[in-house]
Amino acid sequence: KNLLCVIGTRPEAIKMAPVILALKKEPWANVRVLATAQHRHMLDQVNAFFGIEPDIDLNIMRPNQALTTLTARLLLELDNVLQAEKPDAVLVQGDTTTVMTVVLACFYHRIPIGHVEAGLRTWDLQNPFPEEANRIIAGKLARWHFAPTEGSKQNLLKEGVPDSEIIVTGNTVIDALLMTAAKDLELAVPLDSVKRLVLVTSHRRENFGEPLRNICRALRTLAEHNPTVQFLYPVHPNPNVKDVAHEFLAGLFNFALCEPLDYAPFITAMKRAYIILTDSGGVQEEAPALGKPVLVLREETERPEAVEQGVVKLVGSNYDRIVEEAQRLLDDESAYRAMARGVSPYGDGHAAERIVKTLREHFA
Ligand code: UDP
Repeated sequence: KNLLCVIGTRPEAIKMAPVILALKKEPWANVRVLATAQHRHMLDQVNAFFGIEPDIDLNIMRPNQALTTLTARLLLELDNVLQAEKPDAVLVQGDTTTVMTVVLACFYHRIPIGHVEAGLRTWDLQNPFPEEANRIIAGKLARWHFAPTEGSKQNLLKEGVPDSEIIVTGNTVIDALLMTAAKDLELAVPLDSVKRLVLVTSHRRENFGEPLRNICRALRTLAEHNPTVQFLYPVHPNPNVKDVAHEFLAGLFNFALCEPLDYAPFITAMKRAYIILTDSGGVQEEAPALGKPVLVLREETERPEAVEQGVVKLVGSNYDRIVEEAQRLLDDESAYRAMARGVSPYGDGHAAERIVKTLREHFA
Protein backbone atom coordinates (compact mmCIF):
# COMPACT_ATOMS: atom_id res chain seq x y z
CA LYS A 1 0.00 0.00 0.00
CA ASN A 2 1.19 3.50 -0.78
CA LEU A 3 1.27 5.71 2.30
CA LEU A 4 2.13 9.37 2.03
CA CYS A 5 3.35 11.13 5.21
CA VAL A 6 3.26 14.93 5.05
CA ILE A 7 5.36 17.37 7.09
CA GLY A 8 5.43 21.16 6.95
CA THR A 9 7.04 22.67 10.05
CA ARG A 10 9.61 21.73 12.70
CA PRO A 11 7.07 20.32 15.20
CA GLU A 12 5.41 18.26 12.44
CA ALA A 13 8.78 16.79 11.46
CA ILE A 14 9.54 15.92 15.10
CA LYS A 15 6.14 14.39 15.81
CA MET A 16 5.82 12.53 12.50
CA ALA A 17 9.37 11.07 12.60
CA PRO A 18 8.53 8.17 14.95
CA VAL A 19 5.54 7.27 12.71
CA ILE A 20 7.60 7.38 9.50
CA LEU A 21 10.39 5.29 11.06
CA ALA A 22 7.90 2.71 12.38
CA LEU A 23 5.99 2.51 9.07
CA LYS A 24 9.21 1.98 7.14
CA LYS A 25 9.66 -1.32 9.01
CA GLU A 26 6.27 -2.61 7.78
CA PRO A 27 6.60 -4.94 4.75
CA TRP A 28 3.12 -4.04 3.44
CA ALA A 29 3.75 -0.28 3.45
CA ASN A 30 5.44 1.71 0.71
CA VAL A 31 6.16 4.92 2.63
CA ARG A 32 6.71 8.21 0.84
CA VAL A 33 7.43 11.50 2.57
CA LEU A 34 6.17 14.86 1.30
CA ALA A 35 7.68 18.04 2.74
CA THR A 36 5.77 21.24 2.08
CA ALA A 37 8.56 23.08 3.93
CA GLN A 38 6.47 25.75 5.66
CA HIS A 39 9.70 25.89 7.72
CA ARG A 40 12.87 25.33 5.71
CA HIS A 41 16.04 25.07 7.78
CA MET A 42 14.26 24.00 10.98
CA LEU A 43 12.54 21.17 9.08
CA ASP A 44 15.72 20.01 7.37
CA GLN A 45 17.73 19.70 10.58
CA VAL A 46 15.04 17.57 12.23
CA ASN A 47 14.86 15.26 9.19
CA ALA A 48 18.65 14.97 9.13
CA PHE A 49 18.66 14.03 12.82
CA PHE A 50 16.09 11.26 12.33
CA GLY A 51 17.62 10.11 9.00
CA ILE A 52 14.48 10.97 7.01
CA GLU A 53 14.77 12.26 3.46
CA PRO A 54 11.62 13.69 1.86
CA ASP A 55 10.75 12.07 -1.50
CA ILE A 56 8.91 15.21 -2.62
CA ASP A 57 9.68 18.75 -1.49
CA LEU A 58 7.36 21.64 -2.37
CA ASN A 59 9.57 24.34 -0.80
CA ILE A 60 6.38 26.38 -0.59
CA MET A 61 7.44 29.46 1.36
CA ARG A 62 7.90 32.87 -0.26
CA PRO A 63 8.81 36.10 1.57
CA ASN A 64 5.81 37.76 3.28
CA GLN A 65 3.37 35.22 1.89
CA ALA A 66 -0.20 35.77 3.15
CA LEU A 67 -2.04 32.75 4.58
CA THR A 68 -4.56 32.86 1.74
CA THR A 69 -1.79 32.77 -0.87
CA LEU A 70 -0.02 29.95 0.96
CA THR A 71 -3.29 28.00 1.12
CA ALA A 72 -4.05 28.51 -2.58
CA ARG A 73 -0.55 27.56 -3.70
CA LEU A 74 -0.51 24.49 -1.47
CA LEU A 75 -3.85 23.26 -2.85
CA LEU A 76 -2.61 23.57 -6.44
CA GLU A 77 0.66 21.78 -5.68
CA LEU A 78 -1.08 19.06 -3.66
CA ASP A 79 -3.45 18.34 -6.51
CA ASN A 80 -0.46 17.43 -8.70
CA VAL A 81 1.23 15.40 -5.97
CA LEU A 82 -1.90 13.36 -5.22
CA GLN A 83 -2.49 12.65 -8.91
CA ALA A 84 1.09 11.48 -9.39
CA GLU A 85 1.47 9.53 -6.13
CA LYS A 86 -2.00 7.97 -5.91
CA PRO A 87 -1.60 7.18 -2.18
CA ASP A 88 -3.92 4.66 -0.50
CA ALA A 89 -3.81 6.81 2.63
CA VAL A 90 -2.21 10.08 3.72
CA LEU A 91 -0.95 10.92 7.22
CA VAL A 92 -0.75 14.47 8.60
CA GLN A 93 0.19 15.77 12.04
CA GLY A 94 -1.08 18.73 14.05
CA ASP A 95 -2.78 21.98 13.05
CA THR A 96 -0.84 23.87 10.40
CA THR A 97 -1.96 25.24 7.03
CA THR A 98 -0.17 22.22 5.54
CA VAL A 99 -2.52 19.92 7.49
CA MET A 100 -5.68 21.82 6.54
CA THR A 101 -4.85 21.92 2.82
CA VAL A 102 -3.76 18.28 2.66
CA VAL A 103 -6.97 17.20 4.37
CA LEU A 104 -9.06 19.23 1.95
CA ALA A 105 -7.17 18.03 -1.15
CA CYS A 106 -7.46 14.40 0.00
CA PHE A 107 -11.18 14.88 0.61
CA TYR A 108 -11.62 16.00 -3.03
CA HIS A 109 -9.52 13.04 -4.22
CA ARG A 110 -11.37 10.57 -1.96
CA ILE A 111 -8.15 9.51 -0.22
CA PRO A 112 -8.46 8.52 3.47
CA ILE A 113 -6.57 10.67 5.97
CA GLY A 114 -4.97 9.68 9.26
CA HIS A 115 -4.71 12.69 11.57
CA VAL A 116 -1.94 12.41 14.16
CA GLU A 117 -2.52 14.54 17.30
CA ALA A 118 -6.27 14.77 16.68
CA GLY A 119 -8.86 16.37 18.95
CA LEU A 120 -6.93 19.26 20.53
CA ARG A 121 -9.19 22.27 21.03
CA THR A 122 -9.11 25.70 22.64
CA TRP A 123 -12.81 26.17 21.71
CA ASP A 124 -11.82 29.69 20.74
CA LEU A 125 -12.47 30.70 17.15
CA GLN A 126 -12.48 34.38 18.04
CA ASN A 127 -8.75 34.78 17.90
CA PRO A 128 -7.56 35.24 14.32
CA PHE A 129 -4.88 32.54 14.37
CA PRO A 130 -5.57 29.61 12.10
CA GLU A 131 -4.70 26.60 14.29
CA GLU A 132 -8.12 25.98 15.85
CA ALA A 133 -9.87 26.16 12.46
CA ASN A 134 -7.24 23.86 10.95
CA ARG A 135 -7.80 21.32 13.72
CA ILE A 136 -11.58 21.47 13.33
CA ILE A 137 -11.39 20.90 9.57
CA ALA A 138 -9.06 17.93 10.08
CA GLY A 139 -11.47 16.64 12.74
CA LYS A 140 -14.36 16.75 10.26
CA LEU A 141 -12.61 15.11 7.32
CA ALA A 142 -10.13 12.55 8.66
CA ARG A 143 -10.81 8.81 8.53
CA TRP A 144 -8.58 7.88 11.51
CA HIS A 145 -8.26 10.30 14.44
CA PHE A 146 -5.13 9.47 16.44
CA ALA A 147 -5.95 11.27 19.68
CA PRO A 148 -3.06 11.80 22.10
CA THR A 149 -5.20 11.70 25.27
CA GLU A 150 -8.62 10.62 26.53
CA GLY A 151 -9.52 14.34 26.73
CA SER A 152 -8.81 14.87 23.04
CA LYS A 153 -10.96 11.81 22.27
CA GLN A 154 -13.81 13.38 24.26
CA ASN A 155 -13.47 16.61 22.24
CA LEU A 156 -13.89 14.64 19.01
CA LEU A 157 -16.88 12.69 20.34
CA LYS A 158 -18.51 16.02 21.28
CA GLU A 159 -18.11 17.10 17.64
CA GLY A 160 -19.82 13.93 16.44
CA VAL A 161 -16.83 11.89 15.32
CA PRO A 162 -17.75 8.18 15.60
CA ASP A 163 -16.07 6.34 18.48
CA SER A 164 -14.83 3.66 16.07
CA GLU A 165 -12.73 6.22 14.16
CA ILE A 166 -10.88 7.53 17.25
CA ILE A 167 -7.78 5.77 18.55
CA VAL A 168 -6.14 7.05 21.76
CA THR A 169 -2.44 6.61 21.12
CA GLY A 170 -0.49 9.03 23.31
CA ASN A 171 1.45 11.80 21.65
CA THR A 172 4.28 10.83 19.30
CA VAL A 173 6.26 13.77 20.74
CA ILE A 174 7.09 11.50 23.67
CA ASP A 175 8.27 8.71 21.30
CA ALA A 176 10.62 11.24 19.66
CA LEU A 177 11.72 12.59 23.04
CA LEU A 178 12.62 9.14 24.39
CA MET A 179 14.52 8.31 21.19
CA THR A 180 16.48 11.54 21.64
CA ALA A 181 16.81 12.12 25.38
CA ALA A 182 18.77 8.86 25.75
CA LYS A 183 21.62 10.46 23.81
CA ASP A 184 23.56 12.95 25.93
CA LEU A 185 24.92 15.81 23.90
CA GLU A 186 27.43 18.57 24.22
CA LEU A 187 25.66 21.93 24.03
CA ALA A 188 27.11 24.41 21.56
CA VAL A 189 25.96 27.29 23.78
CA PRO A 190 28.31 27.77 26.75
CA LEU A 191 26.42 27.18 30.01
CA ASP A 192 27.69 27.41 33.57
CA SER A 193 27.38 23.91 34.98
CA VAL A 194 26.79 25.21 38.53
CA LYS A 195 24.16 27.90 37.89
CA ARG A 196 20.48 27.08 37.55
CA LEU A 197 19.12 27.53 34.03
CA VAL A 198 15.86 29.18 32.98
CA LEU A 199 15.10 28.12 29.40
CA VAL A 200 12.78 30.31 27.34
CA THR A 201 11.07 29.92 23.96
CA SER A 202 8.46 32.34 22.66
CA HIS A 203 7.53 32.88 19.04
CA ARG A 204 3.81 32.18 18.77
CA ARG A 205 2.01 34.63 16.48
CA GLU A 206 -0.59 35.53 19.08
CA ASN A 207 2.23 36.98 21.24
CA PHE A 208 3.65 39.25 18.52
CA GLY A 209 3.65 42.93 19.52
CA GLU A 210 2.77 44.08 23.02
CA PRO A 211 2.46 40.60 24.61
CA LEU A 212 6.01 39.66 23.58
CA ARG A 213 7.29 43.03 24.77
CA ASN A 214 5.71 42.36 28.19
CA ILE A 215 7.20 38.87 28.27
CA CYS A 216 10.65 40.28 27.48
CA ARG A 217 10.29 43.04 30.10
CA ALA A 218 9.46 40.36 32.68
CA LEU A 219 12.43 38.24 31.59
CA ARG A 220 14.71 41.26 31.94
CA THR A 221 13.49 41.91 35.49
CA LEU A 222 13.96 38.25 36.39
CA ALA A 223 17.51 38.21 35.01
CA GLU A 224 18.41 41.44 36.86
CA HIS A 225 16.98 40.18 40.17
CA ASN A 226 18.64 36.78 39.90
CA PRO A 227 22.31 37.25 38.98
CA THR A 228 23.14 33.72 40.12
CA VAL A 229 20.66 32.22 37.62
CA GLN A 230 21.44 31.94 33.91
CA PHE A 231 18.86 32.40 31.17
CA LEU A 232 18.85 30.93 27.66
CA TYR A 233 16.42 31.97 24.90
CA PRO A 234 16.80 30.38 21.44
CA VAL A 235 15.21 33.10 19.34
CA HIS A 236 13.07 32.43 16.27
CA PRO A 237 14.44 34.24 13.17
CA ASN A 238 11.15 36.12 12.51
CA PRO A 239 11.89 39.87 12.99
CA ASN A 240 8.72 40.20 15.11
CA VAL A 241 10.50 38.01 17.65
CA LYS A 242 14.17 38.65 17.08
CA ASP A 243 14.03 42.44 17.18
CA VAL A 244 12.00 42.53 20.40
CA ALA A 245 14.13 39.92 22.16
CA HIS A 246 17.30 41.80 21.29
CA GLU A 247 15.82 45.18 22.22
CA PHE A 248 14.98 44.06 25.77
CA LEU A 249 17.43 41.29 26.55
CA ALA A 250 20.71 41.86 24.73
CA GLY A 251 23.65 42.88 26.88
CA LEU A 252 22.56 41.23 30.15
CA PHE A 253 25.55 39.21 31.40
CA ASN A 254 23.40 36.25 32.55
CA PHE A 255 21.02 36.18 29.57
CA ALA A 256 22.06 34.29 26.41
CA LEU A 257 20.14 34.86 23.19
CA CYS A 258 20.95 32.32 20.48
CA GLU A 259 19.68 30.98 17.16
CA PRO A 260 17.03 28.24 17.37
CA LEU A 261 18.77 25.12 18.65
CA ASP A 262 18.70 21.91 16.64
CA TYR A 263 16.26 19.41 18.08
CA ALA A 264 18.66 17.12 19.98
CA PRO A 265 20.66 19.99 21.55
CA PHE A 266 17.35 21.63 22.51
CA ILE A 267 16.33 18.46 24.36
CA THR A 268 19.70 18.54 26.13
CA ALA A 269 19.01 22.17 27.12
CA MET A 270 15.59 21.11 28.49
CA LYS A 271 17.27 18.39 30.55
CA ARG A 272 19.70 21.00 31.92
CA ALA A 273 16.93 23.51 32.69
CA TYR A 274 15.59 24.24 36.18
CA ILE A 275 12.38 25.79 34.87
CA ILE A 276 11.02 26.47 31.36
CA LEU A 277 9.01 29.49 30.17
CA THR A 278 7.40 28.89 26.79
CA ASP A 279 4.45 29.52 24.48
CA SER A 280 5.22 26.33 22.50
CA GLY A 281 2.81 23.43 22.29
CA GLY A 282 5.51 20.79 21.90
CA VAL A 283 7.61 22.06 24.79
CA GLN A 284 4.51 21.96 27.06
CA GLU A 285 4.30 18.25 26.25
CA GLU A 286 8.00 17.40 26.48
CA ALA A 287 8.96 19.24 29.66
CA PRO A 288 6.66 17.38 32.09
CA ALA A 289 8.11 14.08 30.86
CA LEU A 290 11.54 15.40 31.82
CA GLY A 291 10.26 16.59 35.23
CA LYS A 292 10.67 20.28 34.39
CA PRO A 293 8.11 22.86 35.61
CA VAL A 294 6.65 24.93 32.77
CA LEU A 295 5.14 28.40 32.86
CA VAL A 296 3.08 28.85 29.68
CA LEU A 297 3.24 32.35 28.20
CA ARG A 298 -0.32 32.19 26.84
CA GLU A 299 -3.82 32.96 28.07
CA GLU A 300 -5.23 29.61 26.89
CA THR A 301 -3.98 26.18 25.89
CA GLU A 302 -5.31 23.31 23.83
CA ARG A 303 -3.24 21.04 26.10
CA PRO A 304 -5.06 21.24 29.49
CA GLU A 305 -3.95 17.84 30.84
CA ALA A 306 -0.59 18.90 32.32
CA VAL A 307 -2.18 22.07 33.73
CA GLU A 308 -4.79 19.90 35.47
CA GLN A 309 -2.03 17.71 36.91
CA GLY A 310 -0.29 20.82 38.28
CA VAL A 311 3.01 20.39 36.41
CA VAL A 312 2.33 23.19 33.90
CA LYS A 313 0.90 26.62 34.78
CA LEU A 314 -0.67 29.19 32.46
CA VAL A 315 0.73 32.66 33.20
CA GLY A 316 -0.15 34.53 30.01
CA SER A 317 1.85 37.56 28.91
CA ASN A 318 1.23 39.71 31.98
CA TYR A 319 4.47 41.24 33.34
CA ASP A 320 3.61 40.95 37.06
CA ARG A 321 2.28 37.43 36.79
CA ILE A 322 5.34 36.12 34.92
CA VAL A 323 7.79 37.72 37.35
CA GLU A 324 5.83 36.52 40.39
CA GLU A 325 5.35 32.92 39.25
CA ALA A 326 8.91 32.45 37.99
CA GLN A 327 10.38 34.01 41.14
CA ARG A 328 8.26 31.72 43.29
CA LEU A 329 9.67 28.65 41.52
CA LEU A 330 13.22 29.98 41.94
CA ASP A 331 12.77 30.78 45.66
CA ASP A 332 10.30 28.24 47.03
CA GLU A 333 11.62 24.70 47.00
CA SER A 334 8.30 23.05 47.89
CA ALA A 335 6.41 24.95 45.17
CA TYR A 336 9.14 23.83 42.79
CA ARG A 337 8.99 20.18 43.84
CA ALA A 338 5.21 20.13 43.44
CA MET A 339 5.64 20.98 39.76
CA ALA A 340 8.77 18.90 39.07
CA ARG A 341 7.16 15.51 39.57
CA GLY A 342 8.07 13.92 36.24
CA VAL A 343 4.52 12.86 35.37
CA SER A 344 3.55 12.99 31.72
CA PRO A 345 -0.08 12.94 30.64
CA TYR A 346 0.95 12.90 26.99
CA GLY A 347 2.17 9.40 26.34
CA ASP A 348 4.40 6.46 27.10
CA GLY A 349 6.63 6.51 24.02
CA HIS A 350 4.59 3.90 22.12
CA ALA A 351 2.19 6.16 20.21
CA ALA A 352 3.69 5.42 16.78
CA GLU A 353 3.28 1.65 17.37
CA ARG A 354 -0.44 2.14 18.03
CA ILE A 355 -0.85 4.26 14.90
CA VAL A 356 0.94 1.67 12.76
CA LYS A 357 -1.11 -1.16 14.30
CA THR A 358 -4.35 0.58 13.28
CA LEU A 359 -3.13 1.03 9.71
CA ARG A 360 -1.77 -2.54 9.55
CA GLU A 361 -5.12 -3.94 10.67
CA HIS A 362 -6.84 -1.94 7.95
CA PHE A 363 -4.45 -2.50 5.04
CA ALA A 364 -2.33 -5.64 5.58
N1 UDP B 1 12.60 23.00 19.53
C1 UDP B 1 13.84 22.89 18.91
N2 UDP B 1 14.73 23.94 18.99
C2 UDP B 1 14.43 25.12 19.64
C3 UDP B 1 13.14 25.23 20.25
C4 UDP B 1 12.25 24.17 20.16
O1 UDP B 1 14.16 21.86 18.31
O2 UDP B 1 15.27 26.02 19.67
C5 UDP B 1 11.65 21.87 19.43
C6 UDP B 1 10.99 21.44 20.71
O3 UDP B 1 11.70 20.39 21.32
C7 UDP B 1 9.60 20.99 20.27
C8 UDP B 1 9.35 21.77 19.01
O4 UDP B 1 10.60 22.29 18.57
O5 UDP B 1 9.56 19.62 19.97
C9 UDP B 1 8.36 22.88 19.25
O6 UDP B 1 8.28 23.72 18.14
P1 UDP B 1 7.51 25.12 18.17
O7 UDP B 1 7.58 25.70 19.53
O8 UDP B 1 8.09 25.90 17.05
O9 UDP B 1 6.03 24.75 17.75
P2 UDP B 1 4.76 24.25 18.57
O10 UDP B 1 5.17 23.10 19.42
O11 UDP B 1 4.25 25.41 19.35
O12 UDP B 1 3.81 23.81 17.49
